[in-house]
Parts: sequence; C-alpha cells; structure tokens
Amino acid sequence: MKAEIETMIELQGYWDEVLKALNEIERRQRSIAFWGDSLREKEANEASLKEMIKQGKGTLMSMELRLNETESKIKKLEERKKTVQTERELAAVTGELDLLYKTRDTVEDESLALMDTLDEREKALEAASRELQESQVQVASDIESLQREIASFDAVRKEKEERFHTLSEKLPVSVKSKFLRLIQSKEGRAIGEVRDEICTSCNFRIPPSLAQESLRGATVCVCTNCGRFIFSRS
Ligand SMILES: [Zn+2]
Repeated sequence: MKAEIETMIELQGYWDEVLKALNEIERRQRSIAFWGDSLREKEANEASLKEMIKQGKGTLMSMELRLNETESKIKKLEERKKTVQTERELAAVTGELDLLYKTRDTVEDESLALMDTLDEREKALEAASRELQESQVQVASDIESLQREIASFDAVRKEKEERFHTLSEKLPVSVKSKFLRLIQSKEGRAIGEVRDEICTSCNFRIPPSLAQESLRGATVCVCTNCGRFIFSRS
C-alpha cells in the first residue's frame, strides 16, 4: 500500500480518538449542567417554602391582632349591655355583639387552619432543606469526579491531536489540504475502507474498476459518492 495511504489511515485513527475523547468530555459536561440545574431547582423549592412560611406568619400575626381587637370590643360592649336603659339600645348593642362574636369565630377558625398549613410547610421545609444539603454534598463530589474524568480525556485529546498534527506534516501538500478539509467536516472522517465495493464511509457502491484500483493500493483513490479517500485490504 502506498505510504501516504498508510499515513492517512493512521491519522484517521488519531482523529477518531480525538473525537471520542471530545464526545466523552461533552457527555460529562452535560451531566455537570444537569446536576447544577437539579441543585438550583431544589434551592428554589427551599426558598419558595421559606417565603410562604414567612408570609403565612405575617398573616397569622395580623389575625391575632384582629382577634385581640375584637375581644376588647366584645368586652366593652358586654359592659355596656349591663347598663343600657332602653329596649332599642339593648337591641343595637346585642346586634353589634352578634356580629363581633361571628367575626371572632371566623378569624379563630381561619387562624387555626393557617397554623395547620404552617405546620405542614415547616415540615416540608425541613425535608427540603435536608434533601438540598444531601444533594449539595453528593453533587459536589459527583462534579469533582466528572471534572477529573474530563481532565484525563482532555489529556488524551491533546496527545492524539499533537500526534495527528505531527504526522499530517508527512502528507504531500495537495493530499494534506484535502485530508484536513474532510476531517474537519461533520463526521470527522477523511478516509474509509472499501469492502465488497462499498465505501464504508458513506455506504455507497463504487465502480468495480475503482474498487480494483484501490485494492492494488498503488494510487490514492477517492470515493465517487462522498469524495473521501478510500483504501482496501486484500
Ligand atoms: Zn464514500
């Protein structure tokens, strides 16, 4: 086989390793982003529970104020009731008192219900905070090991890329520029084997004469369909 074909096969091997390493790095970067997002989601959940509890406590406090006000109004009116002179006055005071008792009962019921809700939210917050803390520890250690893996894949990528660039200098200029252009293309593939007259880069059948020429290995052949370099092993 012509030396430059051998060189291209070796170069393709290095490039495949580069792409594999990049792919592994990307997968891990996606994991890191995913874990970061899930952590932020848990932080937001905790913050919103805290906010709801804070608001609920504020509401409860104003309910208590209202309850106290109502109670003292009731007390005053009950006193006045004892001293009323006329039927009309008595009816007015009694009517007012009825309303106040109703208000008191309503506010009492509402504040009891709110206390229950607050209790539930406090429990939910406790669970959310615990879960967040556990996640923070877990995610930090996961991200650390993912970053270590990224660093080691990046070292592989760098090494293979250097080998690739050094070796690519051996190619004749005309072949080299076409080879580099092809390898930079989407699939990162510049040379592929021909098997049973099929170019394995694009899975198309090439003319039998070209397959024969490629099998002889004396010239640099190119697939008639995808334009990539081809080689055959006998
Ligand atoms: Zn092809």
